[in-house]
Amino acid sequence: MNLPVIQTQSGSADDSASSDRRHLLNLSLAELQQWLVDHGEPKFRGKQIFGWVYEKRVSQFDQMSDLPKKLREKLDQEFIVFGAREAAVQTSRDGTDKLLVRLADGGEVECVLLRGGNRRSICVSSQVGCAMGCVFCASGLDGVDRNLTRGEIIEQMLRLQARLDDGERLSHIVMMGMGEPLANLEQVLGALEIAKSADGLGISPRRITISTVGLPPAIDRLAKNGVPYNLAVSLHAPNEELRNQLVPVNHKIGINAVLAAADRYFESSGRRLTFEYVLLGGVNDAAEHARELAGILKSRNVLLNVIPYNPVEGLPYHTPSRHSIADFRQILESAGVNVMFRQRKGDEIDAACGQLRRNRATQPEA
Ligand code: SAH
Repeated sequence: MNLPVIQTQSGSADDSASSDRRHLLNLSLAELQQWLVDHGEPKFRGKQIFGWVYEKRVSQFDQMSDLPKKLREKLDQEFIVFGAREAAVQTSRDGTDKLLVRLADGGEVECVLLRGGNRRSICVSSQVGCAMGCVFCASGLDGVDRNLTRGEIIEQMLRLQARLDDGERLSHIVMMGMGEPLANLEQVLGALEIAKSADGLGISPRRITISTVGLPPAIDRLAKNGVPYNLAVSLHAPNEELRNQLVPVNHKIGINAVLAAADRYFESSGRRLTFEYVLLGGVNDAAEHARELAGILKSRNVLLNVIPYNPVEGLPYHTPSRHSIADFRQILESAGVNVMFRQRKGDEIDAACGQLRRNRATQPEA
């Protein structure tokens, strides 16, 4: 990996294990309150429990000291707060922590905490694997196993939040880990509902971004949901032919349908769109590609996020030279496109979700 790893832990002792108890994080506050009422408990205990889990970062019921002991026992019989385990942790000098989370059924996903200035951003997965098949990406090399549940998505957020020191506050969430969030929209929206709720993580939707390969019907459903999350669309190519090559799912959709759906999302949400463009040396980084891309984007109110490729072992792609990255940038900037180039280390591993899982899958268990 590119990340300068200063510490890797494997299979650390953890406070959870697979169990037949229900995953508490799958419950909304209303559902938990209903469970409490059904079990003869007052509804207000729901907010207390949410406070312990989401604010005080407590994952053991016996530590929830303002709950009656009987209720703590009842909860412990029925529920588990964390259903997964941390199979590996990588920390880098630039303040980036990457977790490989092993789910109750053995599936693995990655998630990342990034520190930059006052920002504390987390990058979270939505599926085990991915079905989209983008040819340069590690996450989809073996296809998709399954969707994550709402609770499994939230658990990644809580595990990353728990790594923050006192005085650090989680500020941003990006659904840019493994998987295609819009192929698992219901569970993703359920998780984000808790992420944005004052009773949950309290992160404003303006600080939450959903990244998609561009699935128009699901983009429209997201717009209809009415919460103004930021939308990032992974474009990666300025024309149909090249996009078909790099993002195979594009064959069935077409670049114009993706752009039209993105435009509709902008109109209904009012949130400026982001387009992502992974720069692959000798593939989509020519001056002509930059000009074509500028032609598509300059009339739109968008931010173009250019991500120099983070190489994946076994794949034939490489990061462009500094020189061609600079040329690409210059063409877009002089056409008036709002461009951001990702360069920081944390962003590199963020973009390369899927690699830790992959690298470990080829190594013997520690
Ligand atoms: N499925 C969603 C979200 C997951 S990937 C999507 O397609 O947007 C998040 C971003 O990282 C996408 O833009 C993806 O194309 C990019 N990415 C994947 N592998 C990468 C790599 N090896 N180097 C750089 N960016 C990569």
